[in-house]
Amino acid sequence: MSSIYIHIPFCKQACHYCDFHFSTSLGKRETMVQALRKEIVLRKDELRGEVVETIYFGGGTPSVLEVAEVNQLIDTVYANYEVVRHPEITLEANPDDLSPNRILELSKGPINRLSIGVQSFFGEDLKLMNRAHNALEARQSIKAASRYFQNISIDLIYGIPGMTNTRWLQNIETALAFNIPHISSYALTVEPKTALAHFIEQGVVQNVDDEVAQEHFSILWDTLTDVGYSCYEISNFGKPGYFSRNNTAYWQQKKYLGIGPSAHSYDGNRRGWNVRSNPKYIRAIAEGELPMEVEVLSKTDKYNEYVMTGLRTIWGVSLEKIGVSFGEVYKRHIGERAKKYLEAHLLYLDGDILLATRKGKFLVDGIASDLFMVNLS
Ligand code: SF4
Repeated sequence: MSSIYIHIPFCKQACHYCDFHFSTSLGKRETMVQALRKEIVLRKDELRGEVVETIYFGGGTPSVLEVAEVNQLIDTVYANYEVVRHPEITLEANPDDLSPNRILELSKGPINRLSIGVQSFFGEDLKLMNRAHNALEARQSIKAASRYFQNISIDLIYGIPGMTNTRWLQNIETALAFNIPHISSYALTVEPKTALAHFIEQGVVQNVDDEVAQEHFSILWDTLTDVGYSCYEISNFGKPGYFSRNNTAYWQQKKYLGIGPSAHSYDGNRRGWNVRSNPKYIRAIAEGELPMEVEVLSKTDKYNEYVMTGLRTIWGVSLEKIGVSFGEVYKRHIGERAKKYLEAHLLYLDGDILLATRKGKFLVDGIASDLFMVNLS
């Protein structure tokens, strides 16, 4: 099984915290769609013998595309790859693009999952982040989407400067009132060279506070797990039957093809990434070339990735698998390094599966890095 990710590198305006690849000049949209279609065709042999289980439109803002363009891209996948009978096909969409007519039109095509970039139901948060939508559009888009789509996810951001615990809880409760089956939630991070980093430096916006973010994560965890959601990955909560098949495939180290500028790919041994420039991407594809750099992963790289993704998910890290796939040296290494975290109740063992406790979840990236192996193989 494998996945196809299609990156749509356009946004209406730049959110202050964002360091993803996108352009706000939409003039080349149609040329880009043709280039994406061509890349899908050019790379069809990479998934020969594989069946595509999920197609994911991410960005950028995929909902800036016309519905017909989205459907053309999906048709191109179907014409060139073997696709399972009931694939998961997700479109990331921003609330301001989801008018009732748009949603109706989308529901008539192959898209069967919407991931809506709500981020917050409060105007002050949306303004601080420079989101293109307002609080009313956030609510209206979910209400309209729920009429035609069952499989809906929304994104919510916590740890926003000025966001109190009460306001954060109200955000979560609003999502619950809409009966959304999947919520992706991230702490606001300050990436270098973003407008947010600049405003914080200037003292115009207060800095994000790790302790506040940790409290928000606890509120999120308690509120959602109490009403039947599983935190199946540190940033992803789903009701039974609604875990994202696409994300799960990434975390279980399945192959995926990343189409479009800045998109990443993984074939089980190599990781590739496309050029992070729309003009360079369009030029290369027009000449029939793949604008991609590739890195061959060592055994240590694969072990480190397995530890990082495993600890972030409910599937954990299997010590037996480490012994079998990577060798006894790796198994001994993780056993030794994990001891202090087991004693501190940040990790625990369920049989031979190493997992993060609720307290350990928020610190999991740092813990995982400490279990990494360096300079072997
Ligand atoms: S819509 Fe998404 S990709 Fe575009 S600027 Fe905002 S956060 Fe970044």
